[in-house]
Amino acid sequence: MPAPPPPVLAPRRKTRQIKVGSVGVGSDSPISIQSMTTTPTTDINATLQQIAELATAGCDIVRVACPSADDAEALPIIAKKSPIPVIADIHFQPRYVYAAIDAGCAAVRVNPGNIRKFDDQVKEISKAAADAGVSIRIGVNAGSLDKRLLDKYGKPTAEALVESAVWEASLFEEHDFHDFKISVKHHDPVVMVKAYEMLAERGDWPLHLGVTEAGPAFQGTIKSATAFGALLAKGIGDTIRVSLSAPPVEEIKVGTQILQSLNLRPRKLEIVSCPSCGRAQVDVYTLADEVTEGLKHLTVPLRVAVMGCIVNGPGEAREADLGVASGNGKGQIFVKGEVIKTVPEELIVETLLAEANRIADEMGEN
Ligand code: SF4
Repeated sequence: MPAPPPPVLAPRRKTRQIKVGSVGVGSDSPISIQSMTTTPTTDINATLQQIAELATAGCDIVRVACPSADDAEALPIIAKKSPIPVIADIHFQPRYVYAAIDAGCAAVRVNPGNIRKFDDQVKEISKAAADAGVSIRIGVNAGSLDKRLLDKYGKPTAEALVESAVWEASLFEEHDFHDFKISVKHHDPVVMVKAYEMLAERGDWPLHLGVTEAGPAFQGTIKSATAFGALLAKGIGDTIRVSLSAPPVEEIKVGTQILQSLNLRPRKLEIVSCPSCGRAQVDVYTLADEVTEGLKHLTVPLRVAVMGCIVNGPGEAREADLGVASGNGKGQIFVKGEVIKTVPEELIVETLLAEANRIADEMGEN
């Protein structure tokens, strides 16, 4: 009998289902991970190279900026050659929405707060998108909220973000266009979480989660993990983008780790390592780093315990697929709950890597 699926904190909120090219977005589909290229879109080769790296890292959907006519001209080749669906990110210029649709992009992100007379454009955009089978993201952002709402609320509050999103959604729906998802991004996780919670109550739209301008890698990782965790723990969120002031592949790594931590994506390599303390009899930090680095190529689910002493070491090592409980300059190596050997400290990493690769081979690692 197959193993039951691992437990999750809450069932997914039920949403309508949309497609971004081949990727389903909504509660019937796994939560997807997105990022955005940082290369000039006009540099087609560099952009495709970055998309390939993102796809290899586990990115499901990629967004590319389209700020000029030259960028729009690059879209057909990028959309055609990209291994994952491409979303064109449009601000200010509605004509690039049509260019992106014509270019074969899987979806278009529009920021209504940044498009003048957006209300007048919705009918045309809806028709063009529907005719081409292209979905849309209504991307409301605290930094570019509609002026009417800024005047009304004084600043981009959660209520203001939601009012903007609901209004814009109603415009598309009036024109019988329903293939859209929504984001209401704010740099403050508290405001962002409140906004998504409120929005989730207002309609069955799939939601794209993001803490916008979350900051450099460390701060942005914590902010995103905290905010996404709060929402995903309630079943809210259908696709995610971690925004970091760091190379986009880092965003994919963080997003993947968030989903894996919540059992929303199968776990792969998982290092269970102790924080070390005054009882540690080996250098746990170095051991954990070297094992993580040495096994980062693995794609099979494998839990490896790296523990500093015999207090919790044997227990954790026994529970893992593979582990070491260190003590007295030596390491007891466990495989599937059994001690298979004891090695001197200098051979712990080498032994763990060899055993991990052997187990991975048996599991069908390629
Ligand atoms: Fe300290 Fe041992 Fe626990 Fe590591 S396993 S934190 S060394 S008591």
